[in-house]
Amino acid sequence: MKFLKYIFLFSLSILVIGLSVYYVVDLVQTKNNLMDIEEYSPKSTLVVPENIITKAKYPFVDVHNHIWNMPLKDLSDMVKEMDSMNMAFIINLSGSGRGTQALRDEYFSKSISNIKDNFPTRFGLFVNVDFERIDEDGFSQMNVNMIKDAVSRGAIGLKIYKSLGLTSKDSKGNRIAINDVRLDPIWNVCGELNIPVLIHSGEPASFWEPKDKYNERWLELRQKPGRYRDPKENPSFEEVLAEQHDIFRKHPNTIFINAHLGWMGNDLGRLGRHLDKYPNVMTEIAAVIAELGRQPIYARNFLTKYQDRILFGKDTYRVSEYHLYFRVLETSDEHFDYFRKRHAHWRMYGLNLPDDVLKKIYYKNALKLFPSISGDLFE
Ligand SMILES: [Zn+2]
Repeated sequence: MKFLKYIFLFSLSILVIGLSVYYVVDLVQTKNNLMDIEEYSPKSTLVVPENIITKAKYPFVDVHNHIWNMPLKDLSDMVKEMDSMNMAFIINLSGSGRGTQALRDEYFSKSISNIKDNFPTRFGLFVNVDFERIDEDGFSQMNVNMIKDAVSRGAIGLKIYKSLGLTSKDSKGNRIAINDVRLDPIWNVCGELNIPVLIHSGEPASFWEPKDKYNERWLELRQKPGRYRDPKENPSFEEVLAEQHDIFRKHPNTIFINAHLGWMGNDLGRLGRHLDKYPNVMTEIAAVIAELGRQPIYARNFLTKYQDRILFGKDTYRVSEYHLYFRVLETSDEHFDYFRKRHAHWRMYGLNLPDDVLKKIYYKNALKLFPSISGDLFE
């Protein structure tokens, strides 16, 4: 009994001490006006014209998206939303889903049927390859056949996830390089079939940098610690990019869409030289609009110069976020908020793109790459 009493008194005093420390720390922080960086959300007092755009000026094609329940999804609500934004066509890059090849084939077939039965002119599918089976006999031929078959049934491209070159391993546990020669037949058949390969390689370079106060993505690395690329365990940023660029060089007859501005959106001069060097490469702006929105003058010049090489992409399907993309591309608004602090702690500026450039980015370049998309949607 006595023992229990001691335990009770001991716990009580720990609680009292804990609460007092918490109270004092809070008091000191308030007194010194300290707060967490995530808490700081200043409201701009700047008064300038605001042009919120909920519907793109021209119909557009989103070439980079992921719709995860495509085989069963009721697409009618989504089409209503697409209409509200002037989105004429959306490409689901994750056409094969995940799992064994049999499951992937089934997933793809059901997705295609859902589209054909309901909205045949509004959705497109890419297929995916399971690279971790690279050691298996007949790997290349099996995938070449799989791609040919998928294209005959309606696939319009091949999507490569960032796992290739970063985390995908062969049966011996070795990282599979993007330019592994065993993958050459896959890149070649896409050229033969005249379908583009949308390839996401690497990550923002800051993920490889020290997690210190100078790192532009420090907040993202705090919120998503798994995104840090420890140089001791990972190929370097430049190594991954070099492997990717090597397949562009080796397969000039295949069109590649280098996703997310090739992670060079923070260095458009470099991206321009990249596009000059590889005429078979296009790029797209999914998830990197904040790079363009922080350099409106340079970005406007860049997009104007490379207007035939840029596609519209978003990556995450969220209506309100598309509105920001429209605002950055179409308006000359200044100093407005982006929607995800960990991507951009800075504010956006509109690029005010000329109409002919906008049309190319929104749909004309996509129509050239994907002849199966109906031109009627864009008149
Ligand atoms: Zn994506």
